[in-house]
Amino acid sequence: MDMPTLATQTAQRFTTRQLLLIDGERVDSIDGGTIEVIDPATERVIAHVAEARAADIDRAVAAARKSFADARWRGLTGDARARVLLRFAELIEAHAEELAHIDTLDNGMPLYMSRGAVAGAALQLRAFAGATTRIVGRAVSNAISLPGEYHAYTRREPVGVVGLITPWNGPLPTLITKLAPALASGCSLVVKPSEITPLSALRVGELALEAGVPAGVLNVVPGVGGDAGAAMANHGDINKISFTGSTAVGKELVRASAGNLKRITLELGGKSPCIVFDDADMAKAIPGAAMSVFMNSGQACIAGSRLFVERKAFDKVVDGVAQVAKNLKVGNGFEEGIDLGPLISARQRDRVASYIEAGRKEGGEVVTGGDSAGTSGFFLNPTVFANVGRDATIMREEIFGPVIVATPFDDVEELVEVANDTSYGLAAGIFSTNVNTVHKLAARLEAGNVYVNGYAMFDPTMPFGGMKQSGWGRELGEEGMDAFLETKSVWLAL
Ligand code: NAD
Repeated sequence: MDMPTLATQTAQRFTTRQLLLIDGERVDSIDGGTIEVIDPATERVIAHVAEARAADIDRAVAAARKSFADARWRGLTGDARARVLLRFAELIEAHAEELAHIDTLDNGMPLYMSRGAVAGAALQLRAFAGATTRIVGRAVSNAISLPGEYHAYTRREPVGVVGLITPWNGPLPTLITKLAPALASGCSLVVKPSEITPLSALRVGELALEAGVPAGVLNVVPGVGGDAGAAMANHGDINKISFTGSTAVGKELVRASAGNLKRITLELGGKSPCIVFDDADMAKAIPGAAMSVFMNSGQACIAGSRLFVERKAFDKVVDGVAQVAKNLKVGNGFEEGIDLGPLISARQRDRVASYIEAGRKEGGEVVTGGDSAGTSGFFLNPTVFANVGRDATIMREEIFGPVIVATPFDDVEELVEVANDTSYGLAAGIFSTNVNTVHKLAARLEAGNVYVNGYAMFDPTMPFGGMKQSGWGRELGEEGMDAFLETKSVWLAL
């Protein structure tokens, strides 16, 4: 099917007003407010979504609380929850094309990316379905030193009503990464997707109901961050917030969560180093370094936006990365063969353009790109900078666009110092064929995720998260489940 047909068919799903999902019902917002959703590739309004405000958040939290209190979900056996999650994964797969089309329409990402995200979502649901039967405490009696005799053990219990707040840059994957372990652990949820990309979360909520997640356990309430999001952060009856978004908003959430000391995990921004040694396999390193930042048009928290290249290989690598950038096809994500879609909004495109301008003003050399692409839609060409000072704005701030800044290094000590010279600590890439170099460096980089001779690998078994100002806690892996569980210690004096 060609691109206009697919895009049009997808948009036709949203000709009617999209309602909130609260307590198993699609309901309008109390004050009737509306979010206009825009296709960033065409700048056209594609949907009108009911806008949740504080009163709607109250309704959603009440529904979630009721479902948690009567244990309609957390009270099921692990096996029963697993069966529902497995059905949910099957439904996601059965609706894979529909979901991929929704995120491509709403976010602009190329279809190959949104399809990959849907496959990853099903994989995660299945992996965490398996975790439901492994939520176990420990028998501690034998190890107690306190005089006397005790039966002492721990229990693992769901943390309660959890708010999931997600960003626009990966609508489905950022949601499922939270939702799968949260449901597996038995929590009840209030989901607030980004107001910019709310469509796939609403559809996922419907599929969860169809799979057998009881009404009230998963509520989806799109709303504006400073309003609905803040209402969640301040809510006295939410036990935990799991947040993915910017570091600035993450800090606001920390302050707001003090009210009821809600638990909080934060997946925030980054300014990740991507490092290429002269001994690297350049056939992997050059496209790997380029795509570490250009994937999703640079709108990725792990974007390898600072490229450090061993001086001997600097010209070769920078020319190679620039060549990759020039060959990338920028356009509507529904078109065949598109590598990079648009930026999410006019605001984001202008923000990235102003960083490019700042880079130029601060003496940086634009090796390629630096300009916009296309006449409509929020497109920018991938951009490579060289000769940028260490304190320049584009070396320090998260740009969240297709912009990479290349710097040579002479030795590993200097490299470690400059690579770690950032307030962020989300990811790092290393390209080298020397195992000693790789493992020694991996240990010294201040980053929650280190990728070697590849980039952006994700799997339900590997924890993901940030050091320093890139976040608190981990998603995925065992740690991903832990984030939604409390430990209770039970003492029985015999
Ligand atoms: P954002 O912080 O502006 O918004 C994220 C979410 O928070 C949205 O749902 C928004 O409505 C909500 N929000 C905004 N203000 C709020 C407030 N005061 N209280 C409660 N909620 C509020 O981020 P964004 O622009 O949507 O996404 C881009 C950012 O997300 C980048 O910084 C990126 O690095 C980060 N990100 C991090 C990861 C990760 O896993 N570490 C993944 C993807 C994106």
